[in-house]
Amino acid sequence: MKEFLTDKINNLPPSATLSMAAKARELKNNGIDIIGLSLGEPDFNTPDFIKNSAIDAINQNYNSYSPVDGYSELKEAICKKFKRDNKIIYNPDQIVVSTGAKQSIANVIQALIKPGEEVILLAPFWVSYSAIVLMADGIPKILESDITNDFKVTAKQINDSISEKTKMVIINSPNNPSGSVYNKDELNEIASVLRNHPDIFILSDEIYEHINYGSEHVSFASIEGMYDRTITVNGIAKAFAMTGWRIGYLGAPVWIAKACTKLQGQVTSGANCIAQRATIEAITQSPNKINYMVQEFEQRKDLIIKLLSKIKGFKLNNPDGAFYIFPDISYYFGRKIGDITIKNASDFAIVILEKAHVATVTGDAFGSPKNIRISYAASKENIIIAVNRIKDLLH
Ligand code: GLU
Repeated sequence: MKEFLTDKINNLPPSATLSMAAKARELKNNGIDIIGLSLGEPDFNTPDFIKNSAIDAINQNYNSYSPVDGYSELKEAICKKFKRDNKIIYNPDQIVVSTGAKQSIANVIQALIKPGEEVILLAPFWVSYSAIVLMADGIPKILESDITNDFKVTAKQINDSISEKTKMVIINSPNNPSGSVYNKDELNEIASVLRNHPDIFILSDEIYEHINYGSEHVSFASIEGMYDRTITVNGIAKAFAMTGWRIGYLGAPVWIAKACTKLQGQVTSGANCIAQRATIEAITQSPNKINYMVQEFEQRKDLIIKLLSKIKGFKLNNPDGAFYIFPDISYYFGRKIGDITIKNASDFAIVILEKAHVATVTGDAFGSPKNIRISYAASKENIIIAVNRIKDLLH
């Protein structure tokens, strides 16, 4: 039946994060005791103050279509949040609320990237950026980094890679999958490069903003000269344990926001009305309300680093944010685990899944073929069991 599908769909890779989660779910349903460390999904419940506002919204009969770009009260709350947390002044007509930050990103790329235009991706990068660029017939231009430089691409690399076809740079800090946080100096250096190229846009994906263990979060649009060409994307999924509620949003120049609204109006309309009402409550409250989750993530990070560092061949760094660890496991390339010779990170992730029953994600999907991504958004108990299983398999 493949011949009936478009080339675009036939060539589109499935999301590696979601595929691994689906595979783990399937094995679990078949009675295998899998520990899922593949998905970036907090294991906490959504806080009660948010759940209660959703229940109120249902009882107040919020059941109709919302405006395509979101309720005006929500857009106003988002503007206040941007001012409070990010030092960025947006007006409500610069905000578009979508069904998850993923849709916000897809809207922007569909709106701005013309066939053949290049989008610079800083590896490691989140799996869907490259796929979304390819869907727009754009060209992902991948710049590499590795564990020795804390998985950060430099301003010089960006400068050297800019061509007349470059249309956009995607910056994601704190980063998925490395957890690295680009500091103010590093972002200022990138901005200095981009000042010489006024036609390049910046998509700043700040979805992990609040999962930060002490580094300063700097929003790219707040850097001098960057506001007029930066699109700031954020959402509630990671910070408020609301992945399934599917609300993301962006702040951008009015003309870009309008383009995204037009596109969304033809594809999905406004995001879920109950989830939008609950988001007003989530982002209006002080971010301190979720400190207990961030503190717990930090303890889990320390735990998983301590445990993984005892496994032969795992090279680790100590990231400042998000809830992933991204070890370099290239030591195993060309070696055998049981009777299987490991050729690459995908083989390694599959062996870990099949023999240790721990789900992770191969680094290939993130543009870093020596690594695997392990999510520690899981209980300490499961982290301990999972790492012991991996250790037993490898030692
Ligand atoms: N962003 C999360 C992850 O990287 C959720 C899955 C996805 O949409 O990729 O695991």
